[in-house]
Amino acid sequence: MKLFVIGHDFDYEMESLCRLFFPNEKITVLKENGEEAFTDQTLVYTVFDENAITVKIITENETLCDRVEEVSADEKEKSRQMAVALFGLFVKLTGFTPKWGILTGVRPVKLFRRLCKSSGIIYAANYFRDKLLVSQEKVSLAAETNGRESAIIETSLRKGFSLYISIPFCPTRCSYCSFVSQSIERAGKLIPQYVDLLVKEIAYTAQIAKQAGLTLQTVYMGGGTPTTLSAEQMGRVIDAVYENFDTSNMTEFTVEAGRPDTITPEKLQVIKSHGVERISINPQTFNDSVLRAIGRKHTSAQTIEAMLLARQTGFSNINMDIIAGLPTDTLEGFRHTLDCCFELDPESITVHTLSIKRASNLVYTGQAEYNSEGILVSDMVDTATKELFDHGFRPYYLYRQTRMLGNLENTGWSKEGSECLYNVFIMDETHTILACGAGGVTKMRQPDGDVIERIFNYKFPYEYINGFDQMLKRKEKVLSFYEKFD
Ligand code: SF4
Repeated sequence: MKLFVIGHDFDYEMESLCRLFFPNEKITVLKENGEEAFTDQTLVYTVFDENAITVKIITENETLCDRVEEVSADEKEKSRQMAVALFGLFVKLTGFTPKWGILTGVRPVKLFRRLCKSSGIIYAANYFRDKLLVSQEKVSLAAETNGRESAIIETSLRKGFSLYISIPFCPTRCSYCSFVSQSIERAGKLIPQYVDLLVKEIAYTAQIAKQAGLTLQTVYMGGGTPTTLSAEQMGRVIDAVYENFDTSNMTEFTVEAGRPDTITPEKLQVIKSHGVERISINPQTFNDSVLRAIGRKHTSAQTIEAMLLARQTGFSNINMDIIAGLPTDTLEGFRHTLDCCFELDPESITVHTLSIKRASNLVYTGQAEYNSEGILVSDMVDTATKELFDHGFRPYYLYRQTRMLGNLENTGWSKEGSECLYNVFIMDETHTILACGAGGVTKMRQPDGDVIERIFNYKFPYEYINGFDQMLKRKEKVLSFYEKFD
């Protein structure tokens, strides 16, 4: 696809809009003017000229055009007007109407909340529906989620922070995975050294947090699959948190138990005995053929076993992750997954929509979002929404990613009082997240403002091990960041 951006600077916005409809297409942005005849690529024109907006799409079979004469002087509004005009042409071209309208950002609820604060909920809902072309069902979802997110955000302290601990190892690599996680087959031998250094980094981070006067509120141990570690290694990492941080204000500690095939009675016992209440066991699907198709070497029976074991061990706050749109899954199959989850009765269920990133091994066979895969996944997500509401779950956080099937969303649903605070804090960017481990990104947030700065850890375990001292030094930036704002 060739995208012409002429007389304005909304390159990013227009390219993102094209991606809503053609997520996997190579898009070449051209700034020069000049009509081109159709060759083998769709031509998209976005022009601001003589105080009017003109948008045009030329394909092999048709030419579609629209013009907006009354253009706002405000740049943001002008960009919105252009996006709406182009959106209209794409809907005509494809017959597909994305439910989040022209919204391309990852945090629609954050925008909704900002509008609520400035102008009230009615204005926010109307703006979403009328100006951003968000469907009524997604407006309701955003409003409902915002209510719960806002209540959680209120609990963040002025200098509160959350700790993220990364365990970037997995038994095997799922075909849709785009994380840096390494299979233990490839990187398992690095684990002992990795754990030694991770424990040191946790201790060092605790010193930095203390010096900066920060208060630990939540901890999330994720990955990867933290339960890839042995029970003893897990115990050392969790101990390192309790031994080094002041945990008197910590209200939540989550360990992602992830892949059911890594869960053992000993590991659950270690997690529980260290005071961790919340774990996540992620079936992704309860259909064994789909599990095989995505390269997860476990069965749905193992998920059920892991869940029963976790209950026996005494866990009272368990999340389950499932994914809509997995290769070879069907609407009936997805319903079956939901039914199994309801039977196992977790406290929260996170419904992801498959997102196909370039870094994954999965080859996306569809041409565009509006093909049958997009429609199927949309039906799956609609089914989940209805069923979850009927079973007493409510949405409490929501985010979107690029290249999601059907341009949909990931939503965390929970029973009243079982929301994961960390998920909200990180998505909203409410407060600082200090990250330890390979692939971790520390994100510092100004206590009374919006300034955000990041510190990146090395991505891969072998880099983390080799560059550890140098990487640790970067954490001192946390102190200089807070000195600026205290
Ligand atoms: S379990 Fe998660 S992190 Fe590990 S390979 Fe699968 S998707 Fe990636």
